[in-house]
Amino acid sequence: FEAALRESEKLAAVGRLASSIAHEINNPLESVMNLLYLAQQTDDPAEVRRYLQSADGELKRVSLITSQSLRFYKQSTRPTAIDPEEMLDSVSSMYAGLMENSNVLLRRRYRTERTIVCLESEIRQVLNNLVRNAIDAMRVRGGTLVLRSREAVEWRTGARGVAFTVADTGSGMSAETIRSIYTAFFTTKGIGGTGLGLWISSEIVGRHKGRLLVRSSQRDGRRGTVFVLWLPFEAGVVGRE
Ligand code: ADP
Repeated sequence: FEAALRESEKLAAVGRLASSIAHEINNPLESVMNLLYLAQQTDDPAEVRRYLQSADGELKRVSLITSQSLRFYKQSTRPTAIDPEEMLDSVSSMYAGLMENSNVLLRRRYRTERTIVCLESEIRQVLNNLVRNAIDAMRVRGGTLVLRSREAVEWRTGARGVAFTVADTGSGMSAETIRSIYTAFFTTKGIGGTGLGLWISSEIVGRHKGRLLVRSSQRDGRRGTVFVLWLPFEAGVVGRE
C-alpha cells in the first residue's frame, strides 16, 4: 500500500510539473504564432526582421524552460561516491569568469574527509543552482561567496552526513520571497529567470533524503543569504523509472 501511495504521489508531482510547464510555455508559443502571422502580413523587410527577432527571443525562453525542467528527468544514473570538496570546486570553477566580472570574491572552508554516495549529476545541479543564485544576488554590488563543507548530523533524525553551505553577501530576500522560493516558476529575475532552480533542487534533495535550509537578511550590516544543503553519507535514493 505504501509503495502504491508513493507511486501516486510521484505521479501527482509529475502531473503538476507537466501542467505548470504547459501553462508556462503556452504564452510564448502564442506570441510566436502572432509574430509569425504579423511577419507574413507585411512587405517591409525591417519590420519582418523585428518580428522574427521577437519570435526568436520567445523561443529561447521556451527552450530555457524545457531544458531546465526536463534535463534532470533524463539523467537516470546510479548513485556513486563523490568527494564533496571536489564537487564544490568543480561547480564553482564554472563560474570563475562570471565571479570576476561581478566583483565576487570566493572563499572556501572545506572540512570533510569522507565521500558521500549520491546521484552526482543531480547534486551537482543543486549546488549549481545555489551558487548561480548567490552570484546573481551579488551582481550589482559584488560581494563574497563562501563555500563550506563539513560533516554534520541531521537535527531531527540524528543521521550522519555532510552539510554544504553556500553563503553570499548579496541582496538578501524578504520574508515574502523566502516563502515562495520553492514554488515552481516563482522568480524575481523577470525574463532572466525561470523560477525552476530551487523547485527542482528541493525535489532532488527530497529524493536523497536530504535537507535544504535557508536563512536570509536584508538588514544593512548583515545583508545576504545562506543556504545549507545537508545530505546523508549514503543516500538511499528513491528511483524514478
Ligand atoms: P531563478 O533563479 O530562475 O529565479 P530559483 O528557483 O533558482 O529561480 O530562485 C527563485 C528566486 O529565489 C529567485 O528569483 C530569487 O528571488 C530568490 N533567490 C534564490 N537564491 C537567492 C539568493 N542567494 N539571494 C537572493 N535571492 C535568492
